Amino acid sequence: MDAPRNSTSDNADIRVRLGADPVINLTGTLTTLGGISARPEAIEAAGEMMGRGVDIVELQACASRVIAEITGAEAGFIAACSSAGICMAVAGAMTGDRMAAIERLPDTAGLKGEVVIQTGHLVNYGHPVEQDIRLTGARVVPFGAVNAASQAQLAGAIGPGTAAALYVVSHHCAPDGQVPFADFARVCHAQGVPVIVDLAAEYDLTGYQRAGADITIHSAHKFLGGATAGVVAGRKALVRAAFMQNYGIGRPMKVGKEGIAAAIVALQAFVAEDRTVIRARLQAPLLRWRAALAGLPGIGAELDADPTGNPFDRLRVSVGPDAGCTAVDIVRALEIGTPSIRVRTHQIEHGSFVMDPRSLGAGEQERVADRLREAVAEARRTRREGEQYDVQEWKARRARALSRWPDGDAEAPH
Ligand SMILES: *Cc1c(COP(=O)(O)O)cnc(C)c1O
Repeated sequence: MDAPRNSTSDNADIRVRLGADPVINLTGTLTTLGGISARPEAIEAAGEMMGRGVDIVELQACASRVIAEITGAEAGFIAACSSAGICMAVAGAMTGDRMAAIERLPDTAGLKGEVVIQTGHLVNYGHPVEQDIRLTGARVVPFGAVNAASQAQLAGAIGPGTAAALYVVSHHCAPDGQVPFADFARVCHAQGVPVIVDLAAEYDLTGYQRAGADITIHSAHKFLGGATAGVVAGRKALVRAAFMQNYGIGRPMKVGKEGIAAAIVALQAFVAEDRTVIRARLQAPLLRWRAALAGLPGIGAELDADPTGNPFDRLRVSVGPDAGCTAVDIVRALEIGTPSIRVRTHQIEHGSFVMDPRSLGAGEQERVADRLREAVAEARRTRREGEQYDVQEWKARRARALSRWPDGDAEAPH
């Protein structure tokens, strides 16, 4: 395997000391790139807790009080991540606090074992969300079509075996024709079905609780800036049942004391922040990068409001037919350059990519501004030289690189 590109340059950087190439993460909060850069208070809390003994059940009760105060829910706990939180919430909805049932999962014999979800919410955020449900032994019962789901279909999907309903709030969800949350919750509650809401990347900590969610789940390592963890909040009996999965299927997805401590501190710091100051701070790099791209033929750059209404913008770079290269050529030049710069590519098929400022480290804003024009020039050169990067081919290269892991791959970063 080749030596890491920066192995001799910067021994103060832990990534370099461990043999990994530094990466500038402009995907925002993508878990596979380490999530968001944690806030200093959370880093300190995790470090301090690592060296101490503590009763985890008591620490989780402390977390419950903080989560209740901040979200308005009755109780809460910290899970290993949102994915784990979804699993544990679904499992708890099936077993309640019966230890025999908790220890028997994923065998659901004798339990209500179905979870309803609208088809437009069956997203892949790194893996399919339905797998979080199926891991518990529950059966996924989708209703509606990708672009058309109705309250009548939801009511029809609920039956005597329904343990819970899952509602996902995410830019990944189908944009049109979904049952809105208030209606979804009303139909479920009319039939006694609890509603679990996946809000992993959503800044709103209170609105869904007020609107009738029985359990909400947020990631601690996304917008909150904690260590890797998930924040579960909701009605006390359901939260307790989900928490008790730590003695069942939750064991292989346990959170450490450092993750709990960092999540509590991150929650408290997050709610104390002034949103408008942060918004302005996050906009500065976007304006800088937009200026760096100005005047390049065929390339447009515009501020893009967050699709689910979170309080920040991103920069969308659109690459037109007269640009002399494609969006994927530029993305490829950015990712194989030094340092590797990773952007959001959800809409790369439509000829655009998106730059998210939330995980920028010190000095990286300037580095990115410098690299942007270079990357466009490199992309044009590779295109002129006939090295084509079709979108599907680019995706296939990444899949092939993964199939060769842990061996390095010159073709594509992991
Ligand atoms: C990121 C994400 C998750 C998973 O969050 P983790 O905390 O990384 O497990 C689940 N659902 C949605 C919609 C997400 O965006």
